Amino acid sequence: MEMLEKLAVILISSGFRYFIFAGIPFLIFYVIFKKNYRKNRIQDKSPKKERFFNEIKGSMMTIGVISVIASLVLFTSFRESTLVYENVDDYSIWWIPVSVLLSLIIHDTYFYFMHRFSHHKKIYRFVHITHHKSTNPSPWTSYSFDFVEAVLENLILVILVMILPLHPIALLSFGLLSFIINIYGHLGYEIMPRWFRSSFLFKIINTSVYHNLHHKEFNGNYALYFRWWDRLLGTENKSYTREYDVIQERRFGNKKLKRKQVIIPGGLLIIVTLMLSSFGSSSNSTSISGDWISQGEDGKAIVWIYKSKNGKYYGKFIKALDPEQQKQVEEGLKKKGKSTLYILKGFVYSGNHKWKDGTLFAPSRKMHINGEITLLKSGKLKVTGYYMGMSKSYLWTRKI
Ligand SMILES: [Zn+2]
Ligand SMILES: [Zn+2]
Repeated sequence: MEMLEKLAVILISSGFRYFIFAGIPFLIFYVIFKKNYRKNRIQDKSPKKERFFNEIKGSMMTIGVISVIASLVLFTSFRESTLVYENVDDYSIWWIPVSVLLSLIIHDTYFYFMHRFSHHKKIYRFVHITHHKSTNPSPWTSYSFDFVEAVLENLILVILVMILPLHPIALLSFGLLSFIINIYGHLGYEIMPRWFRSSFLFKIINTSVYHNLHHKEFNGNYALYFRWWDRLLGTENKSYTREYDVIQERRFGNKKLKRKQVIIPGGLLIIVTLMLSSFGSSSNSTSISGDWISQGEDGKAIVWIYKSKNGKYYGKFIKALDPEQQKQVEEGLKKKGKSTLYILKGFVYSGNHKWKDGTLFAPSRKMHINGEITLLKSGKLKVTGYYMGMSKSYLWTRKI
């Protein structure tokens, strides 16, 4: 796929994500069940319709910025300087949920200082003013930023892929989780269950009331997911707990919760999260299927690998000997000229990132060469052919 097509795909999916994830809560809380959720409202009045349109308009630019940054990171040669890995087995399966959690902690830290800095009176109106036009935020506020802020916000992706080994599943989960928390922070309604107040999580995690107070009063409560930076550096809004309790008491009354009512839902939440994360990871086992390119000393080669129903790997390997043939190969005109075709047959996964017992068959010479494929830590494939006591290796890079 061309770079522009990939950018278009990311642009459309980010836009889709915004309208679905902000649109559904908006319909539920601001349109269909507005009356049912009256007690959950954080500020008495509902924002004006005009505000919603401005927020959506502002968010379009942010979606563009996110898409450009994500495409530059994932689909250009910059990808090679990142720690993004594709083979789940390169790290323990537990690394996926752990890396998502670490990403949230790093993002929260980055956001806290960036956000505090953007409130500096000399730069506030160039960087952060658009977001604060919403003194009573709605789900549509979550992407409503100035251009500079949109860029700064999304630089976190560049930072994360440079310092943490991240699997695409972890990247996707982090992006989605971060966006859902962002929507919740701007919801305008408190929806936390009653037990949350008596659990230790209340001391650690932000709520919708927390970020709403930031929009209402312009300062304090700068952090995104966690309370620790604000508490440590004395920027937490002093009336936060009181405001939170007022809303929750309006919803549930002021009877104290029994210990059992706190522990059971908390435990269930942890079990469901663990189950979901390990399900997500195990569904993507080691695979070398897909398109690969090699740039050996005797020219470029294009490789297609697929897994057959019998669990073995097959593929085609076309070596192109001069630039013209390389172009033809890339355009899919496979058999012209002197390009050499090999067929990969019956490679079996033998553990430890190795595929063995396969052959490379060259139809033009009717020759079978024993082969072995290894998936390296760097994400490259090393294919080695053994013939009459000699061996030759190629390095293949995944075509993106
Ligand atoms: Zn702010
Ligand atoms: Zn906000």
